[in-house]
Amino acid sequence: MTSHDHPHDREHDEGPPSEYEIMSRAMQELLIAKGVITAEQIRARMEKFDEDFPYRGARVIAHAWADPAFRQRLLEDAKAACTELGLDLEADRLIAVANTPEVHNVIVCTLCSCYPRALLGMPPTWYKSENYRRRVVREPRAVLREFGTVIPEHVAVRVHDSTADMRYVVVPMRPAGTGGWSEEELEKIITRDALVGVTIPAIR
Ligand code: FE
Repeated sequence: MTSHDHPHDREHDEGPPSEYEIMSRAMQELLIAKGVITAEQIRARMEKFDEDFPYRGARVIAHAWADPAFRQRLLEDAKAACTELGLDLEADRLIAVANTPEVHNVIVCTLCSCYPRALLGMPPTWYKSENYRRRVVREPRAVLREFGTVIPEHVAVRVHDSTADMRYVVVPMRPAGTGGWSEEELEKIITRDALVGVTIPAIR
């Protein structure tokens, strides 16, 4: 399944657009109306964003699953660990938070849409939605259930609020039954959503 095909996107997109979305759309329309830029240029620039910031998280997490020493370095200094793999995260300060049998982590930006773009690509629409940003803090278990993720009551849910200079990535637990898998095989089950913490990697 690709990261662009998410059955849950729709329900998280409900609700009015955020202040930023309204301002951004108004600015676009104004610039187009004044002939400063064209709609085509906007579309091309957005495609360029996707090219500049592809989803690269799976490679990092697969390597962490395969190499416990790398996993430890990732948890201590995620940016430096990514540099080992040749990934330049630019200015982002990145903190990797590990899921354990006792703790499940989930990421949000309650203020706007801060997100580890350099690692995970552009944020999904639901991540930027008012609905997700407001509710995941108040009722994380209910929001996770809407993604099909049921966290047992004995597992604590920790919600991490991102900021412009503090981004997070979740390090999920390696699923049982993947013992002999290569890193390439592991990468296939490490979805973007799992690294935001709204799903859990599973063998399909
Ligand atoms: Fe933000």
